[in-house]
Amino acid sequence: MQRKIRLMIGILIMTGLIAGCWKVSKNLQKELKEEMETIGEAEKSDRIVVLDAGHGGTDSGKVGINGVKEKDINLTITNSVKKILEKENIQVIMTRETDEQLAQSKVEDLKYRVKIMNEVSPVLAVSIHQNSYHEENVFGAQVFYYQTSTEGEKAAGIIQDALQKVNPDNTKKIKANNTYYILKKTEVPTVIVECGFLSNYKEAQKLVTEDYQKSVAEAVAEGILSYIKENE
Ligand SMILES: [Zn+2]
Repeated sequence: MQRKIRLMIGILIMTGLIAGCWKVSKNLQKELKEEMETIGEAEKSDRIVVLDAGHGGTDSGKVGINGVKEKDINLTITNSVKKILEKENIQVIMTRETDEQLAQSKVEDLKYRVKIMNEVSPVLAVSIHQNSYHEENVFGAQVFYYQTSTEGEKAAGIIQDALQKVNPDNTKKIKANNTYYILKKTEVPTVIVECGFLSNYKEAQKLVTEDYQKSVAEAVAEGILSYIKENE
């Protein structure tokens, strides 16, 4: 009798162990499947965005009326946009993630950025810059697109609308362009977001604050996400 009970307990333990192992392996399989699905989804170009923080390294871009360098604001805002998009399962490829120029000359640097955009072939490429003008009173975010790109125009409109909420006084509208190298040479929908004017004291002072940079980044990300949604 004693032996029988021990045998029964033994069988029960074994069954429990097998069931446990099976459950663990099922969980692992599920996790792996989920991971594969995430990768599979991200691999589709309609879930990939290229973000380009303008300038970098020896190329400071515009220098603000308050001394701020455009390249630094560009990178901070672009990094924030990246974080927001990644939370929404968008795969983000950055042309630069640190304070660096991507080639020895300005022309080669721009060529390299375009090369990344064309090779990655994202749903949208967004180049982030700050503007400047010889008249100090000019201000406001403005989004540029290549003049014959319908998709570029569409994305520009959505992002401009989102930016409008950050500063309702902004009177700038989206603008077609046929001379900017990045807009001309990319084979994917591309926009240039000029977040504000560093030549305008009030805007330049706002653009150096963490809060305003965050608001701008959120608006740009919101615009990108809306554009992706409309394209799905
Ligand atoms: Zn710039």
